[in-house]
Amino acid sequence: MNDTSEMKDVFQTYLSSMDDLTRVCVVPDAHSKVWKDECMYCYCDSECDSGLYINMKSFQGFCSKHLTLDQGKHPEALYLIEKTIKVASYIYGDVCD
Ligand SMILES: [Zn+2]
Repeated sequence: MNDTSEMKDVFQTYLSSMDDLTRVCVVPDAHSKVWKDECMYCYCDSECDSGLYINMKSFQGFCSKHLTLDQGKHPEALYLIEKTIKVASYIYGDVCD
């Protein structure tokens, strides 16, 4: 196999993986509603221990406890995990008060 056909195979594999990705993901536009502040079923947010899982097709957020409810409806879903981590300011010393 020469370099050109090897590159073509790699490119075809890349394109097929992009097809899979576009099947489970949607790019939000200015009119899309994204529920990324709290879980759809409770008040957990990105500051909860496990973070908030945002479905990249429906743009709905779920905590780890309620994530299985969404996975039951959308088994091939892809999620973005949003997690807020608070850092104590004394780590930075004099830079941050
Ligand atoms: Zn929840």
